[in-house]
Amino acid sequence: MATPLLGQMMAAPLLIPSLLTHAARHHGDTEIVSRRVEGDIHRYTWRDAEHRSRQLAQALRRLGVGDGERVATLAWNGYRHLELYYAISGMGSVVHTVNPRLFPEQIAYIVNHAEDRYVAFDINFLGLIETIAPQCPSVQGWIAMTDRAHLPASRLPLLCYEDLIGVEDGNFPWPSMDENTASGLCYTSGTTGHPKGVLYSHRSTVLHAFGAALPDAMDMSARDAVLPVVPMFHVNAWGLPYSSALVGAKLVFPGKDLDGKSLYELFEAEGVTFSAGVPTVWLGLLTYVKSIGARFSTLERTVIGGSACPPAMLRTFEVDYGVRVIHAWGMSEMSPLGTLCHLRKHHRDLPAEAQQHILEKQGTAIYGVDLKIVGPDGEELPWDGKAFGDLYARGPWVLDRYFRADTSPLVDGWFPTGDVATIDPEGYVQITDRSKDVIKSGGEWISSIDVENVAMAHPEIHEAACIAIRHPKWEERPLLVVVRKPGSTLTREAVLAFYQGRVVKWWIPDDVVFVDEIPHTATGKMLKLKLREAFRDYQAAP
Ligand code: AMP
Repeated sequence: MATPLLGQMMAAPLLIPSLLTHAARHHGDTEIVSRRVEGDIHRYTWRDAEHRSRQLAQALRRLGVGDGERVATLAWNGYRHLELYYAISGMGSVVHTVNPRLFPEQIAYIVNHAEDRYVAFDINFLGLIETIAPQCPSVQGWIAMTDRAHLPASRLPLLCYEDLIGVEDGNFPWPSMDENTASGLCYTSGTTGHPKGVLYSHRSTVLHAFGAALPDAMDMSARDAVLPVVPMFHVNAWGLPYSSALVGAKLVFPGKDLDGKSLYELFEAEGVTFSAGVPTVWLGLLTYVKSIGARFSTLERTVIGGSACPPAMLRTFEVDYGVRVIHAWGMSEMSPLGTLCHLRKHHRDLPAEAQQHILEKQGTAIYGVDLKIVGPDGEELPWDGKAFGDLYARGPWVLDRYFRADTSPLVDGWFPTGDVATIDPEGYVQITDRSKDVIKSGGEWISSIDVENVAMAHPEIHEAACIAIRHPKWEERPLLVVVRKPGSTLTREAVLAFYQGRVVKWWIPDDVVFVDEIPHTATGKMLKLKLREAFRDYQAAP
């Protein structure tokens, strides 16, 4: 048998610090701007970020953090968080981003499950840190991400971030290692059971950064000023801290203030061209921009994902403000990007309405992700845009098994996403539901997302969730839970009338209830489990 002939190119491993050193060497003067929790705006460059990351890696080594050990962060988007990302992974340890919006007991569970050795935190989370500290025996030190002047008084012996790195000279060559070394850990915001850890590697992260930057993905370049609204504590801000370095883009970090006014002012002041976030934050931004009659002077496009982007929001961005929306689907277990929605060349000849219809879908798979939909008996379903089934994914940045789990969730090498979708003949995926949210009425499925999207197009509806309620004949029927816009006196009858002609008759909700607020998960998704509990015994009005 002939021996395979090996290629003779350099065996350079795909390591995360290479993104940072690239940005520092080739885009060294490009700025990173942060709104700090201390209240001011901080600016420096990729060159500075690289130097300080090396100082931080030295400091963590001095503290005794070893290979493969976890260091947690509880922080907003900002330059110190970026340094932690690169320093911890770059030195061979694992950056564990913790979502501060979780309940303290969940955070303690996660920190203990990960066995974090240090926790770095933004000073406004001190109260949370003091609450969980007694429950976290593995943590040897708590690092306040600030300077001595802003160090808060605490009953915990805090370490001061700036003091730690201030004594280091930055002479820390990034070590070479196997590209499959673990680099980051992120727990999924499961709505049931304990959160599960997804352990990313250098290889998966760098490949994902490449894929994310592509024109038919996030379309990123060195000409961009990128403002990640999506938090760095949730799936690495969709990889933006990495892809921004890969293309040498300017980064703008919004810190803790994610309200419409704060975001809009930062967009304008820093010439932001590209942003990314979940629909809820864009609701706030659009409401503010409309209220002051403003326009976006530099924003070109935004990625919307994490939950379905309501078509009405897509239209407002595109038609009213000239901002291109890239609808995207993904999940923590996929680093997170799976599909992104762009038109193809031949779609340009279609009428505007048909183009909009395509853009409302979650898009097509990027290279690196393969998808299939599967029916109840495990058979692969056709890509006809009609058949919907369980969506499966595989690829080099898709999870193989959860951190510290004995078994793998894979089925024949494919990851079951838990989402239900259709795929059309051109490969455009449309997510119809989470499998547990789908409404099963008389043996047929109703897409809660589609029902919600109609409601979101109503000018007096701020937010709407569609959940299943029990029905004696049909088993389940849709109930619409609505938050009205301020000042609206919208009635149940008017909402139901709005559905006429917009969806097939049997998809029209059986009833509408008005609430002051819809609960959200720590990552901004509507918490339907809570709603289902609240309306468990709800009887629709006749
Ligand atoms: P997470 O792991 O917290 O990022 O959540 C991932 C889940 O969010 C996916 O499995 C989907 O159920 C949902 N999701 C993400 N993006 C979209 C989207 N564009 N449309 C509908 N659901 C989405």
